[in-house]
Amino acid sequence: MQFDYDLFVIGAGSGGVRAARMSAALGARVAVAEERYLGGTCVNVGCVPKKLFVYGSHYGEDFADSAAYGWTPPPAAFHWPTLRDNKTREIERLNGVYRNLLDGAGVTIMEARATFIGPHAIDVGGATVTAANVLVATGSWPNLPPIVGAEHCITSNEAFYLDAFPERAVIVGGGYVAVEFAGIFQGLGAETSLLYRGPLFLRGFDAGIRQFVADEVRRKGVDLRFNTQVERVERSANGLVAHTQAGEAIEADVVLQATGRAPNTAGLGLERAGVQTDAAGAVPVDGRYRSNVPHIYAIGDVIGGAQLTPVAIAEGMCVAYNLFAGESRSVDYGGVPTAVFCQPNIGTVGPTEAAARERHPALQVFESTFRPMKHTLTGREERTLMKLLVDGDSDRVVGAHMVGPEAGEIVQGLAVAITAGATKAHFDRTVGIHPTAAEEFVTMREAAR
Ligand code: NDP
Repeated sequence: MQFDYDLFVIGAGSGGVRAARMSAALGARVAVAEERYLGGTCVNVGCVPKKLFVYGSHYGEDFADSAAYGWTPPPAAFHWPTLRDNKTREIERLNGVYRNLLDGAGVTIMEARATFIGPHAIDVGGATVTAANVLVATGSWPNLPPIVGAEHCITSNEAFYLDAFPERAVIVGGGYVAVEFAGIFQGLGAETSLLYRGPLFLRGFDAGIRQFVADEVRRKGVDLRFNTQVERVERSANGLVAHTQAGEAIEADVVLQATGRAPNTAGLGLERAGVQTDAAGAVPVDGRYRSNVPHIYAIGDVIGGAQLTPVAIAEGMCVAYNLFAGESRSVDYGGVPTAVFCQPNIGTVGPTEAAARERHPALQVFESTFRPMKHTLTGREERTLMKLLVDGDSDRVVGAHMVGPEAGEIVQGLAVAITAGATKAHFDRTVGIHPTAAEEFVTMREAAR
């Protein structure tokens, strides 16, 4: 049978765009459908605008710190519409960049919703398109917990476009989005509370890192409340009130639910193609990103794994090379580094200390905490934490964790070394760059544990 395309991609986010471009570069006839915005969550309502907001939120501290360096700080006032609209202009520029990338690669862009009609047939805005292979790259969407008054809450989607900047913000959740937005709102001047249902936020991260971040975030003035479950949000005369199970009532102008993201599969017609989803709505895939229907693939947030742009991109590359270059690639998830842009930042690669200890009985933990050099003059009580996990039997460095300025930048480099199999002896032989924070990673001599 003749198909219109060799590959039809549903969703022009990070993963879908990369898979489409690479497949076209390898000679395939490719189309991509997108109903919302080119670039997906990352470009439009995720990584990119978030990082711009993080930059913006740090100026308050920088102005204050500048006094110790001899500057007369300006009378600092923050104007939200300027940041919001400058950010939006940059996002629109990036939407254009994505369009050019796809055009330049010879990918057909269809700006409409795509739904399956059958295993090889897709309805795109009323037209039927056929394809030999289909890639589901529809991403995820923020969860709103089913509490009374959920309709008064916002998610990260809306946080990027608020009409007015809140004076008081309540953030519910304890993951990436919650801690990042806590730093953004607090830094931009809102009185910010973060309410997390468990005993300590950032579940899944190294225990020492979690505690350290909690201390630092508190020090920045965020009202952190653990073991706190919001059960109801109501509108009041002067804003919103978040009511907790323990009977507390916290007033706010915005309540941001940062309680995870669910795979975007509803209404996609997957059942008409015979594609199964799991209880969470994710598309289960094998090691080559094939769903239970072998010519229908899925990558990125929609498969229910790590919801990270570089992971989706790596998966998209695998699909393209496996389909159109005869390769048999898969992603090594063990070495995925990640950063959380809370303030100060977290950078991490490899297992937590607890997980590493289970795998490596002779684990050695090297650890260092110090005040960043910049703050020797400012007097600011901010601390940096660095941890290196070494398998004592092989001397291999198995993990690195950091909390501190530019932790993501530093850990990205360490991830290369760890992927290459570096040993502690390699780290010890490496000459430091002085004076940097990063040099601490090559000058750790005594194991703390
Ligand atoms: P996460 O899954 O990271 O965290 C969700 C948080 O919400 C957890 O603390 C969870 O608690 C809590 N939660 C879940 N359901 C409820 C509920 N019903 N009531 C109260 N609390 C609840 O999701 P995020 O929304 O923070 O982010 C989504 C994903 O996006 C991240 O996992 C990450 O992969 C990605 N992301 C990456 C970023 C980066 O790379 N810097 C930045 C932002 C997002 P518990 O721990 O108890 O389950």
